[in-house]
Amino acid sequence: MTKVGVAGLGRMGAAIAKRLIEVGNEVVVWNRNPEKTKALAAAGAAVAVTPGELAGRVETIITILTDAGAIASVYQGKSGLLEGNVSGKLFIEMSTVQPETEIALAKEVGAKGAALLECPVGGTVGPALSGKLLGLAGGTRQDFERAKPLLEQMCRRVDLVGPIGAGASMKLAINLPLATFWQSFGEAFALCRHLNLDPAWLVELFADTSGGPNVLRARGGAVALALQDKDSGSATFDCDSIRKDLRTMVAEAKSRGFALPLAERTLAVYDQASAEGWGAKDCTELPAFWSSHGKT
Ligand code: NAP
Repeated sequence: MTKVGVAGLGRMGAAIAKRLIEVGNEVVVWNRNPEKTKALAAAGAAVAVTPGELAGRVETIITILTDAGAIASVYQGKSGLLEGNVSGKLFIEMSTVQPETEIALAKEVGAKGAALLECPVGGTVGPALSGKLLGLAGGTRQDFERAKPLLEQMCRRVDLVGPIGAGASMKLAINLPLATFWQSFGEAFALCRHLNLDPAWLVELFADTSGGPNVLRARGGAVALALQDKDSGSATFDCDSIRKDLRTMVAEAKSRGFALPLAERTLAVYDQASAEGWGAKDCTELPAFWSSHGKT
């Protein structure tokens, strides 16, 4: 049993903390909005009042937060994770951000005598709850081996991609086809909408074609419900989160001197969906947005 801290109990952090409790770890949690600690406390977690207290109580600390600003605030803010003596501790940073964020953070963590492994993940709340995420680690082999037993409790597969920053690059890369797929499927559905075919049958047919990605097989049921204007459940990866990822991809490409025209155009569609009130809806609803509401 490992004593592990989780800072950031959003959709992903809460699911990861729950999974770690279920497989027998002693888990301490912290979240900016303390309301979100209650469900975890009921599931057996101890609660820290500040990130600094959390870091003082465990040897391994997982963070999964919105973006670079959130990371700065939780690590370097008042009573932050790095405020006290963290020498020898291991931080596992799992947010989706630009590589430069993880590289800068690793230097700050290293200056305090601690280690940082980045490990952004593929997969959403369901895979997090069942330990079936895809982990894309960046860091030293030594830190990876140290983190691996814990990561294997969260991930169906975890690979060391390269040095710190490599995991972030890979995570942005794997999310790009996913983000653009939802829009391309919306456009495809718009082309055959006038046929009035059963959306569930259509989704199943698309999933059986060469252009049908894994996600259509996994989330096709939710897509079909959304295409019929029916409730497909609460959002696990919402359109605003995809907008954040697309903005991060475009910024990362720009910093390396190239453009992502498809991602930029897709971002404009997600911006339009968000402006029309679809930002908090799950990404599986984006095809319904474009095929029924999208305007050129
Ligand atoms: P979320 O539900 O929106 O949760 C965001 C978390 O970040 C919350 O704990 C929030 O605290 C915290 N936070 C934001 N700004 C903060 C600040 N300034 N100071 C302190 N805490 C702050 O997001 P999520 O869906 O769990 O995603 C978290 C990360 O994982 C993101 O980088 C996302 O891209 C990535 N990711 C998400 C998914 C997914 O399917 N959802 C999958 C893979 C990776 P409060 O509760 O106090 O607001």
